[in-house]
Amino acid sequence: MNSKKVRVRFAPSPTGGLHLGGVRTVLFNYLFAKHNGGDFIVRIEDTDQTRFVEGAEEYIFKCLEWCGLQPDESPLHGGPFAPYRQSERKAIYRQYADQLISAGQAYYAFDTAEELDEKRKAINNFQYSQHTRNEMKNSLVLDEAATQQLLNEGAAYVIRIKMPQETEVHLNDMIRGDVSFNTSLVDDKVLLKADGMPTYHLAVVVDDFLMQITHAFRGEEWLPSAPVHVLLWQYLFGIENMPKWAHLPLILKPDGNGKLSKRDGDRLGFPVFAMDWKDPKNEEVNTGFKEKGFLSEAFVNMLAMLGWNSGTEQEIFSLNELIQQFSIERVHKGGAKFDYEKAKWYNGEWIKKLDADSLRMHIKNIFGTDLGKFDDAYIDHIIALVKERCILLSDFKEQAGFFFQSPETIDTASLQSKWDEKKKIFFTELIAQFNAQENWNTADLEQTFKALAAIHELKQGELMLPFRIMLVGGKFGPTVFEIAALIGKSETANRIKHVLNLLS
Ligand code: GLU
Repeated sequence: MNSKKVRVRFAPSPTGGLHLGGVRTVLFNYLFAKHNGGDFIVRIEDTDQTRFVEGAEEYIFKCLEWCGLQPDESPLHGGPFAPYRQSERKAIYRQYADQLISAGQAYYAFDTAEELDEKRKAINNFQYSQHTRNEMKNSLVLDEAATQQLLNEGAAYVIRIKMPQETEVHLNDMIRGDVSFNTSLVDDKVLLKADGMPTYHLAVVVDDFLMQITHAFRGEEWLPSAPVHVLLWQYLFGIENMPKWAHLPLILKPDGNGKLSKRDGDRLGFPVFAMDWKDPKNEEVNTGFKEKGFLSEAFVNMLAMLGWNSGTEQEIFSLNELIQQFSIERVHKGGAKFDYEKAKWYNGEWIKKLDADSLRMHIKNIFGTDLGKFDDAYIDHIIALVKERCILLSDFKEQAGFFFQSPETIDTASLQSKWDEKKKIFFTELIAQFNAQENWNTADLEQTFKALAAIHELKQGELMLPFRIMLVGGKFGPTVFEIAALIGKSETANRIKHVLNLLS
């Protein structure tokens, strides 16, 4: 590692919801920076205004906040290299495009949209490249005077990189090692658009330089663009100043066949976005991991393990442990299959592990104001009683809801199948017995119940299910007497009465 302070960046384009692959890119940047005492920067790459989506930037910052991956510098947090939004940096990029033109490393292309369309129609998979540029209208074909005239007339143009012929461009990737590209296979990418905005390719290189980025983790899908970036670094700022790249392996569909997409989530019933994302174009809401009931600790832990491992058996890591243990050498080259069951397993483990204060806060959020009348000790007791059965936070609704309020629905079908007059009498009397009960605790309640069953010559086993359904609404929950002991005398009596009324 060189002696410069480590500075990494996450550079999203605000084009939609934050896919879990995007969060993993953030995470690896963040872990690497924090492991090395460095800074984590978020830069918004919004130079393609046709792809701009309202609300996407705010959403990205909310997701980072939820995950606890706070930037040191960003449009929201400020910093010494502001502005951090590329659209606000427009004036910076032009001089670099001009410099490339002067050096013969880029050129003006005057082709109109119609001319380009015609080419695309005439040639299959047309690419503007060293193989086709001589048939096009650009400053490599036109002489200097003609080019100058077009510029003077204010003709629309873009500036394109002039890819060199048959040159091997090398990239020493932190994950993949040496990757080489043949420049004759790469098209002449646009660097500056007709509206004066840079494209991603120019802006990413200029800003990584100006913001003194030392390392950058990004998705593998950017690897094909890397030769363009390497050349721009060579031309403009010196290859020795280029950040060290790490192209992260893809997150794959559960069956390993291709990249995990939003559609896979819809099809297989799991979230792919960090938080709920409402697409402003069609108002469609995509459920997020957060809203599905994931703890951010579990989400982050699970993502870290999609492509990295500690080399030990340990699977549960807090963010701090990840920071301490993260090493680039342990990031895999191959794609990582997403496994929703495993993701849920992480959440279940984190629910068991989380401290009581944090878990209580989550439970209070789930139930909202409903919990106002219960004290923390009662809530903590309930949480401890049911948390082993909860995989998602939302499971607490079903597993613990009946401790806080009477069940909204009662599984009367299961009750009715074996209901008879004898049972009705038993439960009616049980209410009276419970009302007279002096010691309201699990053991004493069970004793009262058993004794009454014996008097009525009913088997306790036959009575337990109806009693459970009366108290919780269905066939679930911990021991019934424990539930009755916790919810209290009048609530227990009310619930029995309510169901007796329903059945009569
Ligand atoms: N703006 C690019 C994106 O949206 C960033 C790629 C990079 O990190 O260089 O993913």
